Amino acid sequence: MPERSESDSRKLLRRLRDSLALPGKGQDRLDRITHLIADSMGTEVCSIYLFRDEDTLELCATEGLKKEAVHQTRMKVGEGLVGRVARTATPVNAADAPSERGFRYMPETGEELFSSFLGVPIQRVGEKLGVLVVQSRTARQFSDDEVYALEVVAMVLAEMTELGAFVGEGEGPGALHRQPRIFRGGTGQEGTAEGNVWLHEPRVVVTNPVADDPLTEIDRIRDAVGQLRISIDDLLSAESLDKDQRQVLEAYRMFARSRGWLRRMEEDIQRGLSAEAAVEKEQSAARARLEQVPDAYLRERLNDLDDLSNRLLRILTGQGQDTGATMPENPILVARNIGPAELLEYGRKLRGVVLEEGSVGSHAAIVARALVIPLIIHAERITSEALNGDPILVDGDSGTVHLRPDEVVVRSFRDKMAMQAKAQERYASLRGLPAESRCGTVTRLYMNAGLMADLPSIENSGAEGVGLFRTELQFLIRNQMPKRDELAKLYARVMDAAKGRPVAFRTLDIGSDKVLPYMKPQDEPNPAMGWRAIRVGLDKRGVLRMQLQALLRAARGRPLTVMFPFISEHEEFVTARNELLHQRDREAAMGHPVPETLRIGAMLETPSLAFAPKAFFESADFISIGGNDLKQFFFAADRENERVRRRYDTLNTSFLRFLRLIADRCAESNAQLSFCGEDAGRPIEAMVFASLGIGTLSMRPASIGPVKSLLRQVDLREVRAVVTAAMAEGVESVRPAVMGWLATLPE
Ligand code: PEP
Ligand code: MG
Repeated sequence: MPERSESDSRKLLRRLRDSLALPGKGQDRLDRITHLIADSMGTEVCSIYLFRDEDTLELCATEGLKKEAVHQTRMKVGEGLVGRVARTATPVNAADAPSERGFRYMPETGEELFSSFLGVPIQRVGEKLGVLVVQSRTARQFSDDEVYALEVVAMVLAEMTELGAFVGEGEGPGALHRQPRIFRGGTGQEGTAEGNVWLHEPRVVVTNPVADDPLTEIDRIRDAVGQLRISIDDLLSAESLDKDQRQVLEAYRMFARSRGWLRRMEEDIQRGLSAEAAVEKEQSAARARLEQVPDAYLRERLNDLDDLSNRLLRILTGQGQDTGATMPENPILVARNIGPAELLEYGRKLRGVVLEEGSVGSHAAIVARALVIPLIIHAERITSEALNGDPILVDGDSGTVHLRPDEVVVRSFRDKMAMQAKAQERYASLRGLPAESRCGTVTRLYMNAGLMADLPSIENSGAEGVGLFRTELQFLIRNQMPKRDELAKLYARVMDAAKGRPVAFRTLDIGSDKVLPYMKPQDEPNPAMGWRAIRVGLDKRGVLRMQLQALLRAARGRPLTVMFPFISEHEEFVTARNELLHQRDREAAMGHPVPETLRIGAMLETPSLAFAPKAFFESADFISIGGNDLKQFFFAADRENERVRRRYDTLNTSFLRFLRLIADRCAESNAQLSFCGEDAGRPIEAMVFASLGIGTLSMRPASIGPVKSLLRQVDLREVRAVVTAAMAEGVESVRPAVMGWLATLPE
């Protein structure tokens, strides 16, 4: 077979394009294409295998193999040489295919006559669509040039597949993005929602994969890469970048300046691809490499390249973020990742959020929690599969997403939602009632909040007040430090909305994962145990003072509750408390009204504080256990790390013994004790905490009903007895004993 020249390659692509433009059914097109490719490549065989379902490939058209095998021959990913191409997303080039590792002979195709085999993946931006194969009788290794040429052809096929060019009736391939798909991710925020996909970054549609004039296309790509480089340089010159943003942009700049990247795209264009298709071809190749890379850092860098390709495609196609599409009803946002400010901009419109990346403690998760919408994280590849407007069901409880679900799934999902709604109705009837257990103990239930938008929940949920108002969101979503007056107005509105119910304002808890965009980022080896929360507040006294003044002014004489996060030793609390008292006196001296009562508390989030001197417990008006942090430090298990964060049960006896010790120390000194981590919103955990003497629980508003319902059904003395007996037996976790006991209770 002759070596193929670039102009041969262009000719083939042109013939392909012309053939695809002819009217006809999908199958006719596929048949014509295989004929064309075999003819042009000088091989006896050309076959197209497309994915029938997620892991089955089907022979959909062939020139040279037996026609009877079309739509009959199927193989699993990884099976035979075709399956190997699909699995690895890289070409297989074998002069003597039958002796190749993993070769599998398909007798119905008559392929025993052919010795050499070249298969390349048909893929589009990481989405595997099929395999394109040529075979010939003579035993020969295909040249690099031929492999490359076939990859370019496969790229065009991928684009055409995506555009639906081969969709057929009967046995023909089905349309893409039409089948139901299930994604199993992780729970970022519980809850269920039914709605329609709204893509945060709509896919760029390339409608012209083949181009006639390579010189024009090369000019276009050089021009677009030039614009891209300038835009990255502009971004890099911004002063307010943190370390991570700078690192990502530096990586972007490196890729954008890489000669190899531009050269490869120019070569693709020389072969007949349009500039857009060339970008996508390189993007697909990078995605395929990404799948093979175990190293997290390198994967991240390849992700950067992916982002960069998208930017380049947007420059080339002129398709911005705004495609003119209208947001569907009940939108469910689908994105690779999203920042807190962007998510807040969508606000209450959204019914749910599905991310490919994300983490439980991410800012997006905090906002989703505040918006009370389900959030799924780690829904791999959903952005390549979902289209704007696709029906979608989100089950935040199990971390499952049903995209384009069939009727049976929709029905059972709606049943589940109806059951939840019924339960909510039942909870609503408890709204005005106290969480009084059978023994007469009343546990006080508060809600956690962080946004103005959360406040209406105070009425609906029946919360007695806000047990934790996270103030960092107002700092995180801005590009500069908020002003004191701005904050004072906002805090005043929060207090107004609470209508006299107490609101525990937690002073700024930044550091760790919460980095303010306008503060110099710290390069810390272990930020969760680094310069964060009160440690920053005490060292950057100006910011703490400003916030305390804003709170005092917002109160306008009303009672005020303030708590300091991440207190690790008594002295820190003393200093923070004195600062607040000093600010109060200063306000008074200036003639401003001061709060009628001032309650000052500490968050107990590090084990050390449980062993602080008695004076600490005596000086705090209240102590609130930040269980999310406390648990991570108690078990030395990072709350952000999926591998370990669920490893240790909250009802582990070591942890409960520790909580009991804290409860006893607070009782000894008459310090009021509450628990405001996520576990307080889980009914079983909440019941056990209450039985240990934790009198106040603060949780997301939707949890108040279920927690109250359970607390009202039980006698906390009995719960405590079950817990104590299980502990005495030496069990690891009291959960089985507690669940067993609950099962014996009358309905
Ligand atoms: C906690 O650590 O439990 C807590 C309530 O604080 P955050 O989740 O904001 O760190
Ligand atoms: Mg915390």
